[in-house]
Amino acid sequence: MIAGIELGGTKTVVATGTADGQVMEEWRFPTASPDETFAQITGWLRERGTPGDIGIAAFGPLGVVPGRANHGQLLATPKPGWAGFSITRALAAAFPSARLTLETDVNAAALAEARLGAARGLDDVAYITIGTGIGAGILSGGHLIHGALHPEFGHLKVPRMPGDSFAGVCPFHADCLEGLACGPAMAARWGAQAADLPADHPAWNTEAWYLAHGSLSLLGIVSPARIIIGGGVSQASGFHEKTGALLEEIAAGYFTPLRQTPYVVAPALGQQAGIIGALLLTDRHTGPSNP
Ligand code: ADP
Ligand code: ZN
Repeated sequence: MIAGIELGGTKTVVATGTADGQVMEEWRFPTASPDETFAQITGWLRERGTPGDIGIAAFGPLGVVPGRANHGQLLATPKPGWAGFSITRALAAAFPSARLTLETDVNAAALAEARLGAARGLDDVAYITIGTGIGAGILSGGHLIHGALHPEFGHLKVPRMPGDSFAGVCPFHADCLEGLACGPAMAARWGAQAADLPADHPAWNTEAWYLAHGSLSLLGIVSPARIIIGGGVSQASGFHEKTGALLEEIAAGYFTPLRQTPYVVAPALGQQAGIIGALLLTDRHTGPSNP
């Protein structure tokens, strides 16, 4: 039996399926305390059997580098009760023989979109999400990038849009990319939820400016063949076209070879990217089997 878990800040998804990303059965429920959430996950799985492999896609910051002491552990998350919680320890206690593979939610989504979605067949892909925060998963040469911890794309410094004096909402950096352009930043800046801002509102030019500049940094550093932008805020009508056009403008004819057209696209797997990615992880075994 193969299982996938997508652990989100607001919702959790648990599924059975195959290592090539087919979901057989899934259950979505609101994320509660760590103990409660993992009791629900393991209880649901136990009713279906004993998983031999479990792929986990989780919010962060998260120890995802195999062999490190913090592997499997949620780190300095502001989500109450979760900092220091070990995902792998909780699962190993319930399923001692299961092989566990863990990734950030955005890396899992990048993998799913690269295998089965909007970047199918590509080995160099970035997946950006814009919701409550901003993050990016990076598949480079077929490998999911970690670094010493994992990338924190949302906290890049980006050039200010001329005339923009909004202070920014990041509690660490104020006006990093996330501070200027995440969903809560849009709400603070414009006095309305992103979902309620019409397509012709100037908010979308500002949003495209910041995402295009963030994307230029990705292009300059990891050279993705395609950039996928998902998350609630990206659902605004015309957002990908606007951001893609501005990115081409500021790229100024450089960075051209081997990029896909269109370059900036919406996810094809939508809400399923995370859980499909979690199932696909079971085929990779990038980490030690148990902590
Ligand atoms: P989370 O990070 O909690 O998973 P989401 O990815 O769902 O959250 O993003 C929530 C944000 O997306 C909110 O700021 C909301 O206003 C915005 N949003 C949701 N739907 C749309 C839409 N159709 N157009 C623009 N913004 C949207
Ligand atoms: Zn920041």
